Amino acid sequence: MVFDFFQKRSSEGVQQLSIFAEAASRGKLGEGLVGVATYTAETNAAFASGLAKSRARLLQDLELLLTGNSNDLLDELQNVLLQADLGTKTTDDIVQETKTLMARGLSRDDLLSIMRGKLVEALEVEGGSREITFSSDQFPTVLFIMGANGMGKTTTIGKLAHRLRTEGNQTVLVAACDTFRAGAVEQLQQWADRAQVECYIPSKEKSTPSAVLYGALECALEKNVDTILVDTSGRLSNNDALTQELKKMKRVIQKRFSIEQDAEGKPRFNLQVPHETLLVLDAAQGRMALDSAKVWEKEIGLTGLILTKLDGSARGGSVVAVSRELQLPVKLIGVGEGIDDLRDFEPEAFVDGLLGVGKAGGKSLANEGALLALRLKELRKDRDEAAKMAPAKAKVTAAGGGAAADLTLQEVDAPPTPTRGTSVKPNRNKKRKKKGGR
Ligand code: GDP
Repeated sequence: MVFDFFQKRSSEGVQQLSIFAEAASRGKLGEGLVGVATYTAETNAAFASGLAKSRARLLQDLELLLTGNSNDLLDELQNVLLQADLGTKTTDDIVQETKTLMARGLSRDDLLSIMRGKLVEALEVEGGSREITFSSDQFPTVLFIMGANGMGKTTTIGKLAHRLRTEGNQTVLVAACDTFRAGAVEQLQQWADRAQVECYIPSKEKSTPSAVLYGALECALEKNVDTILVDTSGRLSNNDALTQELKKMKRVIQKRFSIEQDAEGKPRFNLQVPHETLLVLDAAQGRMALDSAKVWEKEIGLTGLILTKLDGSARGGSVVAVSRELQLPVKLIGVGEGIDDLRDFEPEAFVDGLLGVGKAGGKSLANEGALLALRLKELRKDRDEAAKMAPAKAKVTAAGGGAAADLTLQEVDAPPTPTRGTSVKPNRNKKRKKKGGR
């Protein structure tokens, strides 16, 4: 376990810990974590059981697709992927790439390699780091945590506070700014006690979310706290008042942590804070949670996602859809109700869990994922080489006459002898007819 690992290393005082400490001092705790921690088999096991339902359905559908006498593999593949909650964008990506790679026919493993590769790519959001950003100036790090009620926000804050204190050796202050939900403050206080960090709670004088937040910032500055975790209200996002309140809270942080003044000597808003605005989503909710996430992304701006309950009956496909559609990296995942059950997110391990690849599928072939990645690389190389050859061939035959030119172009498009095991062949005539009809 990541946590045991650090405890062990800490007692041994080995070099890795100084790499970690050095990364943390540069404001890159996540980098340090990645540098010294290996992703654990336990996390993969939690995925494997949590994703069991999604996996069983997806694999069964793919099996039917591959064994059935499908006339149009691409149409059926599209249906299977949409049924698996992967969303239209990821589905289109997979179908399009499959189309370009299927000239020689596709084996089951070819298809699996395309799916695995495309799903991992969909989760690797361009420009979105999976590391948590920490402060690199005189102010504490502020992590703004949002999410609708019941998603697992309070639990996640407790787990995160625990990780920061134990792994990052940080002092943490939790700001109880959810002043709307009855019992929210007490619940957060309990988690803070469990994580052994301080909790700043509302008082008579400071009873609105922004007032509590301001008080928490002052307290953190006074006590030289490393990181502030800000709990926010989780009422539904179509509530305009909540959106306005969240915006106001953001401005409170940006003003109090200002590092510059304008010409009139007024503090300029520090747009570097909060360092992260993280949305907590229940993975079992799937795309149902997407609409509220979109509103928050548009109105407040998010930097990443925390997905909870991946140990339960998560809708695995929708994790990909939500991340892809919002163009936000999944930074952390909840895999249980315990304080240790918040882990880093590893797209490859997650996708292997979803597709039942390697150990995640209970197979002894531990490096199956790597082999599939290699297979996709080869498929793409073959395709690109064939594409390079195609114009040259077309030129030569065009010089020889019209009928011959047609024949060769067709050959390039659909080589007659498959080089790989072929279980399903595309129905090329059907596709062509469609094209011609346009
Ligand atoms: P909040 O309303 O968003 O603050 O949600 P809570 O933190 O109160 O969590 C709601 C429920 O989800 C509680 O019963 C938690 O124990 C549970 N929960 C939160 N995270 C996880 C998780 O990763 N796995 C599981 N199985 N349960 C979780």
